[in-house]
Amino acid sequence: MVKKNKWDLIIIGGGLAGLTTALHLSNHNLKICLIEKNSYPNHKVCGEYVSNEILPYLKSLNIDPFSVGAKKIKRFNITNLEGTTLNTNLPLGGFGISRYAFDNLIYEALKFRIEIIFQTVEKIVFQDNSFEVSTQNKKVFNADFVVGAFGKRSNIDSFLKRDFILQKSPWLAVKGHYEFDFPEDTVALHNFNGGYCGLSKIETNAVNACYLTTFKAFKKYGKIDAFQSNEMSKNPFLKEFYNNAKPIFQHPLTISQVSFQRKKPVENHIFMIGDSAGLIHPLCGNGMAMAIRSAQIFSHSFLKAMHKDRFNRGVLEMNYTRLWNIEFGKRLKTGRIIQSLLVNPHSSKIGFSVAKIFPSIIPILIKKTHGSPTK
Ligand SMILES: Cc1cc2nc3c(=O)[nH]c(=O)nc-3n(C[C@H](O)[C@H](O)[C@H](O)COP(=O)(O)OP(=O)(O)OC[C@H]3O[C@@H](n4cnc5c(N)ncnc54)[C@H](O)[C@@H]3O)c2cc1C
Repeated sequence: MVKKNKWDLIIIGGGLAGLTTALHLSNHNLKICLIEKNSYPNHKVCGEYVSNEILPYLKSLNIDPFSVGAKKIKRFNITNLEGTTLNTNLPLGGFGISRYAFDNLIYEALKFRIEIIFQTVEKIVFQDNSFEVSTQNKKVFNADFVVGAFGKRSNIDSFLKRDFILQKSPWLAVKGHYEFDFPEDTVALHNFNGGYCGLSKIETNAVNACYLTTFKAFKKYGKIDAFQSNEMSKNPFLKEFYNNAKPIFQHPLTISQVSFQRKKPVENHIFMIGDSAGLIHPLCGNGMAMAIRSAQIFSHSFLKAMHKDRFNRGVLEMNYTRLWNIEFGKRLKTGRIIQSLLVNPHSSKIGFSVAKIFPSIIPILIKKTHGSPTK
């Protein structure tokens, strides 16, 4: 019996990873459905600096972030509590664009090419070599394959009882857009006790300020304003920013329980992409590029496997896991090391002194957390 609502592939989550996968696969004669819980456009907690490594791939998909005003970024500066500043050119460079504009740009290119359903997925069951995906209003969708693109923390992670979701994470993040005089070719990272804050311009000319901090550092103050003016502002650059920047959002966006724990690229036969497969520390400014690159790796592997005379699910799962680990394993490890050095005041001080003497160390570290541009 042919099942109702039967798809070749269901993609769950329409952030950058899910949208890009859908766009890539949309002209390959596949019946694809994307299920996303929110409408477009919408704001997301994110530093909004994107590495140029994914530009050739985006171009191959006819996506041009500069068509909606993305800012070209080629300079990086990093400061510490003492006000010490290190400046460098970014090895690859990048661009500044809000998630509001970026996700929407890909959604607009995709929306008439595949079926997009705005619902929250609650259950994914794999049985008899096929998936049953159920949403909050009891709709059921069937598919041969499911791609998990549901981001860093989702109700589906709880449903699947993934290892990382069972553990608490100490990190929370806050983001807002501001009017402030800031160079458009620069992304800055300002260190403070317990975390760091990224500043860069986006397509509207606003400055995006996004910070990650430990709950321990934040809870002394309990409120965002008090934390920004009393703790973060011990860094003179952040003091200047929060004293003079004019908020554009009525309230900043916040998320908690941001987890950097290891995850598996394939779980319960679901191919995980983007943050669902693993989140790099935001100070590397590379999570979006990794989300898009994982979409590319999955799409290539999937199409290649489908074109073989004898398709084997287990082989595809093994290949994707292997390619994912080759591409991202080292980057995630380097990200973890840099993060632990930067957040600890003692090691951060030593790191800044070393980088003052050997400034070439910064582009080397940046390169280690980034990949090379590929079509
Ligand atoms: C504080 C912070 C700062 C960052 N700064 C940067 C930066 O400057 N540069 C950079 O490159 N990266 C940065 N990142 C990382 C970047 O934001 C992520 O890596 C990127 O968003 C991953 O994209 P994604 O598509 O995997 O996930 P997302 O963009 O989170 O998309 C997941 C989607 O799934 C949907 N979804 C979830 N559950 C369900 C469900 N049950 N049913 C239906 N839909 C569902 C969500 O609504 C969402 O749209 C930062 C991250 C943090 C936390």
